Amino acid sequence: MSARIIDGNALAQTVRNEVALRVRRLADRGVQTGLAVILVGDNPASAVYVRNKVKDCEEVGMVSTLDRLPADTSEATLLARIAALNANPQVHGILVQLPLPAHIDEHRVIEAISPAKDADGFHVSNVGLLMTGKPLFRPCTPYGVMKMLEHAGTPLEGAHAVVIGRSNIVGKPQALMLLAAGATVTICHSRTRDLASHTRRADVIVAAVGKAALLTADMVKPGATVIDVGMNRGADGKLCGDVDYAGVSQVAGAITPVPGGVGPMTRAMLLVNTIEAAERCVA
Ligand code: NAD
Repeated sequence: MSARIIDGNALAQTVRNEVALRVRRLADRGVQTGLAVILVGDNPASAVYVRNKVKDCEEVGMVSTLDRLPADTSEATLLARIAALNANPQVHGILVQLPLPAHIDEHRVIEAISPAKDADGFHVSNVGLLMTGKPLFRPCTPYGVMKMLEHAGTPLEGAHAVVIGRSNIVGKPQALMLLAAGATVTICHSRTRDLASHTRRADVIVAAVGKAALLTADMVKPGATVIDVGMNRGADGKLCGDVDYAGVSQVAGAITPVPGGVGPMTRAMLLVNTIEAAERCVA
């Protein structure tokens, strides 16, 4: 059996087209949708992410501003910048690119962003709203995964979903979203005993660990949907996920590739979060 490929590039393009339409509709009502991005320091990977985010905004007609602050920026300066963006009605979404330099308290910075503009969905208010089933902003990666599952037609109600990874940005919010969709959810992590005994019973597996080839074909139930969030460099230097794609795609019913799977959807969902925020302002 060869799994159906869930094409993240194609779905992300569809999502961007829909967002562009919504941006135009708001523009017709005199509202320019705006995302503010802050990058502190010169981490090369972060610089690429931020550039891509700004490019995505341009494609859908959003106004984006990029603040590039030097690595020695004080926490107070950064907090003051966030306060100014919180107060600016032209800014609907604010994103501070993580990680931050070690001298800045990441938690304090996230909590300084207005929960109504928290495009990443990391503020405790937004985490709490997700937890209680009334989400405002959802973290982009798990939100994108939910769109992919919906697009793939994977039934979630009553399904057994296994999330591998328990981070605040992927694993935990992913589990909450799957739970809200009616799945029975198991969260596995670095301390889980016998990972395969859990994954073999799963109808849906979301791997979000950061270890190449963690999930192999013998760990997957035939026909299961496998979503690979991982981003690793293989021995050949190429980008790969957490899933042994060659093997698992022979067993799974549907699978996301890396690259071209969850990554592009994560980017697209930032745009969705931003347009949703702008629409809430005029509602
Ligand atoms: P993290 O390091 O914060 O969390 C990793 C999780 O994996 C931890 O909860 C840990 O308990 C678990 N883990 C570690 N070893 C394990 C093992 N042997 N078995 C089971 N669980 C194990 O990472 P993160 O920020 O959640 O990201 C996870 C991966 O997803 C990384 O590769 C990251 O680059 C990638 N990622 C991709 C996107 C995207 O857009 N594609 C977005 C975010 C993260």
